[in-house]
Formats: sequence, C-alpha cells, structure tokens
Amino acid sequence: MIPAHHPDDALLVGYAAGTLDEATSLVIATHLALCPGCRDAVALFEAVGGALLDDVEPVPMAPDALPALLSRLDREGNVGPVPAGTVGPSSGSDPAPALPRPLRDYVGGDLDAVRWKRLIRGVDLYDIPVGSAGGGRIKVRLMRVRGGVAVPQHTHEGIEMTLVLAGGFSDASGHYRRGDLACSDSDVDHRPVADQGEDCVCVALTDAPLRLTGPLMRLLNPFVSF
Ligand SMILES: [Zn+2]
Repeated sequence: MIPAHHPDDALLVGYAAGTLDEATSLVIATHLALCPGCRDAVALFEAVGGALLDDVEPVPMAPDALPALLSRLDREGNVGPVPAGTVGPSSGSDPAPALPRPLRDYVGGDLDAVRWKRLIRGVDLYDIPVGSAGGGRIKVRLMRVRGGVAVPQHTHEGIEMTLVLAGGFSDASGHYRRGDLACSDSDVDHRPVADQGEDCVCVALTDAPLRLTGPLMRLLNPFVSF
C-alpha cells in the first residue's frame, strides 16, 4: 500500500540535511520506511545538498577543530538523524512487522513489546524515549485506539504529526491509513475516529501540550498529561 498523505518538502529537506530534532526525524524516518516516493525525494535532496557542498571553497581548519568536534560527539552521543529503515520482506511465514525499523529500535521490539498505558477506555499510549529536544516539549508517542473509538476532541498550541502504522482513522481533513502522515496545527480542532473493526496504531508527535476541548475533557484538562 502506497501512502496518500506525505510530509511537506520542508520536512524532507530538513531530514536530508540532518537538521530535524530527534523526535521529528524519527517520525519522518518511519514514514520513509513505508513510502518509496518520499525516499526518492530525500535521495534527491541529499544529492543536491552534496553537489552544493562540492561547490563551496574549502577553508583551512583551526588546529583544534577536529579534537573539539570529536569530544563534542563523545559528550552528545549519537546526534545524527535517525536513519530510515525499510519494512523489508517478511521472512518465511512470519508477517511483516507492524513497526518499521526506526521505531522497533526505539521500542525494543515490535508491537507486542510495547508496554501500553491506558489513557482512557479504548485509548492506550506509550511514550517513546527520545532526547529532550526543544526543552523536553516535543513528545513522541505510540497511540493505540480501539476500532470505532473517537480520540478526545482537542486542539494544539503547536503542531501535531500523526503517522498511521496499523488500521486507520478519519477526521475532518480526510482518511488516513498505514504510512499516511497527518499534520495539524493550532488552527485545527479535530476529533479523529478510528476505523471500525481494527485497532488503529499511530506514532504521534506534539511540540506543545494538547488542549482537550470537548465538554467533559475541559474538566479533565488539569489532570491529563496527554
Ligand atoms: Zn511519502
């Protein structure tokens, strides 16, 4: 299945240039694992970036530049972009994993390894451990929504990116299935509903706390760290 909803070019260029934060990079890498078209686009952006760098006149490096860079890399650990994996062919009779490679590395296995925490009836969450980019404001989570269940209505102060891994959901902006990326910003007050008959599993990134806007949810807001 080829995804129908893709990251915009700015995100793909940022991924190719290695300028995205770890959480955003993880979401984009996961989309790339499921989307041959965006993989081609990133390869093109990387090639263009490389060609531009080839045209830059080299400048002499300060004598201490290399040791300083190496010690910075030591301190900061792996600061590079998350590499895009591919789902790959299934081996033997095993079905293809639901979680593409970049996510499996973070979760420590496929979906059956996820230690879900219940948010409300029919909605479970798992916080994916990523670095504290953006002062810890950027959260990336797996979300599992029972088929037919609506996620609480909410708006965002920042952006939210939701990438479908299994099942599907619909909101006012369209229908999303495996590999599709939905982006919404603070203008959107939406209420995604999981497709009937199958759990919808997504990876969702938010760069600010969600504000729940339904009548009951307004009361819950102080208690729910969504
Ligand atoms: Zn794509």
